[in-house]
Amino acid sequence: MNPIFNEYIEFLNDTNKTKIEDLKEGYFWLDKSIIKGFDKNGEIHKFYRVKIEDDLSVSVTKPKSGYDNIKDVDIVSWKDLIETNKNHLKNLEDEALKFIEEKVNKYKEYTSIIPVSTGKDSMVVAYLIRSLFPDTKAIFNNTSLDVVESYKMAKNLPNCEMMSPNKGFYQYVREDGMIPTRFARFCCRIFKVGTMVKELDHNHPYLLWMGMRNEESNTRKDYGDEVVNPEWGKTCWKGILPIRKWSELDVWLYTFWRGLEINQKYKYGYSRVGCAIACPYYTKSTWVLDKYFYRKGYDRWRDMLEKDFIENKKWLIMNCTLKEYLEVAWNGGTYRNEPTEEVIREFMKYNGLKDFDLAKQYFNKNCCECDKRIKDKNVLAMNMKIHGRQINKFYCKKCFMSLHNLSEDDWDNKLKSFKQNGCNLF
Ligand SMILES: [Zn+2]
Repeated sequence: MNPIFNEYIEFLNDTNKTKIEDLKEGYFWLDKSIIKGFDKNGEIHKFYRVKIEDDLSVSVTKPKSGYDNIKDVDIVSWKDLIETNKNHLKNLEDEALKFIEEKVNKYKEYTSIIPVSTGKDSMVVAYLIRSLFPDTKAIFNNTSLDVVESYKMAKNLPNCEMMSPNKGFYQYVREDGMIPTRFARFCCRIFKVGTMVKELDHNHPYLLWMGMRNEESNTRKDYGDEVVNPEWGKTCWKGILPIRKWSELDVWLYTFWRGLEINQKYKYGYSRVGCAIACPYYTKSTWVLDKYFYRKGYDRWRDMLEKDFIENKKWLIMNCTLKEYLEVAWNGGTYRNEPTEEVIREFMKYNGLKDFDLAKQYFNKNCCECDKRIKDKNVLAMNMKIHGRQINKFYCKKCFMSLHNLSEDDWDNKLKSFKQNGCNLF
């Protein structure tokens, strides 16, 4: 649940077909695409639903049941909520400060460090730690995928060291053709903790104060006060979680109450601030914000995806069109089981194929020997070149080479000569 700021209201009014007159900053909350608010009794009401279509168009609707009109509800502001929750917030703060002191005493020989992402949780933790120990150093793990607003915040945070990777995310994409998906991603490992793990002394006892909370996810649900991240490898570091029991609402109300700096991305309507644009875990509701607020980055990433799709002939892997790939399919697995006619026609157009039935032959083929899916257009073409265009049995490269007793060089030479002779299968 995140507070709704003017920037997000403006976005909704710009992208939705009709203007929503009764939204204003200071009152509303966005919870899983539903706009909500609290009344004087602390009851929560639903007002609108934000729906993002596959083509990233936006509609704000009021479903018939379970939703209220804003004018019918005595809605309370964020300020009022802070007032009514002040004792609760004060208790949370007192407990957290006591907790921090206890841990510092327990781990006297450790050096405290605050890893900040500029997200709301780590900003609260940094504030709490530094209200007791003002000189505690912070570090910002530069993922090379953060937005300028986050970098600025980290730079302006006193005593905060920026830790940057030697090779950035987009360099991996450009130089190594690495596109992350939900099922195969290289970036979390390299960028999320990798830089910190490389830069900090493994043999030094560090106490890392982190903002993880139990309610965030199933994996975080069971975290206790102290954690050791396996991705740190062999170190003698310890992670301490001073706000693990706080709810998201607690964090926001506390942030407002104490006047802590808020990352601009939250104001745009993002629920997370890390890894912009290319993180495969994001979905439509984030992409539509990227497209609106970070158009350059959005377009740049899609240019890279487009190049990769065409070069690697991903029609054959994804069974989708280029447009579908760029809009919704790029971060997942095969988009549909069978290619549509449109997919096949587009594949023909980009690859100079004239015969529809022949083009269809390239899709959804598994090796008849080892059952491996054949995704490489050259391998499919080689099968048809040598065994005939009407075949229904295909071999993967390895099985094909062993069938014809070919070496890797033989394969390459054949491929080269067929291409040079202008064979339209390749
Ligand atoms: Zn095979």
